[in-house]
Amino acid sequence: MVQRMDSSLRGIKEIRQLRKRAPLYWANTAYGPAQDALPFLELDMEDMRETCARLDRFKTLLVRLFKELEPTGGCIESPLVPVPRMKENLSHRRLSINGELYVKADHLLPVAGSVKARGGIHEVLFLAEKTAVQEGLLRLEDDHAVLAKEETRKLFGRYTVSVGSTGNLGLGIGIAGAALGFNTVVHLSAEARAWKKELLKTKGVTVIEHASDYSAAVKAGREAAAGDPMTHFVDDERSPLLFLGYAVAALELQRQLDELGVTVDRAHPLFVYIPCGVGGAPGGITFGLKQVYGDAVHCVCAEPVESPCMLLGMLTGLERDISVYDIGLENKTIADGLAVSRPSRIAGRILKHLAAGFCTVTDVELLSSLAALGRTENMRIEPSAAAGFSALEHVISCEAPLRVFLGTDPLSVNSTHIVWSTGGGLVPDEEYRAYTARINGLIV
Ligand SMILES: *Cc1c(COP(=O)(O)O)cnc(C)c1O
Repeated sequence: MVQRMDSSLRGIKEIRQLRKRAPLYWANTAYGPAQDALPFLELDMEDMRETCARLDRFKTLLVRLFKELEPTGGCIESPLVPVPRMKENLSHRRLSINGELYVKADHLLPVAGSVKARGGIHEVLFLAEKTAVQEGLLRLEDDHAVLAKEETRKLFGRYTVSVGSTGNLGLGIGIAGAALGFNTVVHLSAEARAWKKELLKTKGVTVIEHASDYSAAVKAGREAAAGDPMTHFVDDERSPLLFLGYAVAALELQRQLDELGVTVDRAHPLFVYIPCGVGGAPGGITFGLKQVYGDAVHCVCAEPVESPCMLLGMLTGLERDISVYDIGLENKTIADGLAVSRPSRIAGRILKHLAAGFCTVTDVELLSSLAALGRTENMRIEPSAAAGFSALEHVISCEAPLRVFLGTDPLSVNSTHIVWSTGGGLVPDEEYRAYTARINGLIV
């Protein structure tokens, strides 16, 4: 596939860097004021409000289906945690920030243990509500706990929810879908970890393994579902429902920052670092944060050096029409959640003007941040979820002109930094130990 690469692409300095698998920070040249972009997008704050209202309607049902949701009364939320020791750890590497550092701990999200508990579960709930209303078993104003009745579960069992995934989205959709009574089918790409497959099978999910990559698994799932009115395919490359499930995390974060008394405005900017696969999660979160904070927030997406599909699509302007294989990369990374060769079109359209920058991260950096976070803050995350720490390091160490975001400076004492830790809650002990052993082996 390398031979397909256009010679004009070879001339781009950043592409030469990407081909070398050397970490890169690219300040988005199309980044601009939020008001120049938001009015032209197909989603808005009203969609976010509807999404919140839908999640609210399901709280009573979710508490019945998942014991772990009792403490939050059915809300699927994660804590915002200050990480002072991790901040101090940066200084060992002669990097420093003057503002506070927090982790938005989505690895602790209940039910699915990853950010997919936001987007994925929202889409399953949307489908459940729509189906039950159509079949005359529910009105929107009814207590949705009635959906736990045997009669409804039988009805849902006639419907199939399917999805293509590198693992975590499959876990989110599979666990939630099966709990509601849907027949569930998960198409997994080659990267998917064995424990994720096993866990899905114990939940009664049908797992179809593909020897190919993520885009191929999605395509297979999409085609298998096409034309079948009883199958709903959760399309990670196209779905606005997934996207909105991620976006409303911004309202949760706003509430948490308010509770902590953290001011966010132009004089007190917020910097948010988010791992990026197909772009749905970082795209949704960025979109939501821009709705809430406008130009006071700046989001940076991080991808593995082997799978920088969003950066590549943005840099070349080719979006989904170029894949990481086209520039000679192999999409092989320890970050299974980010091993994606082409970005989602909807996410790309939204990130185009709203993301401040994009960067790449090596597997060694991922494992090193994973181990440091475990050691200093006792937080257990998976490799994909560690990418945000490298984004933070890129931003604070890049050249001064690149470091200025719409006139605000991340090094200012008034800046707040949030690294989004997107997954790891369900990682088995032995798997986690293998990650830390690998990095310890590399360090000593
Ligand atoms: C899916 C996932 C991401 C990225 O989400 P996309 O929507 O694919 O960009 C990041 N981290 C983890 C752990 C994930 O599972």
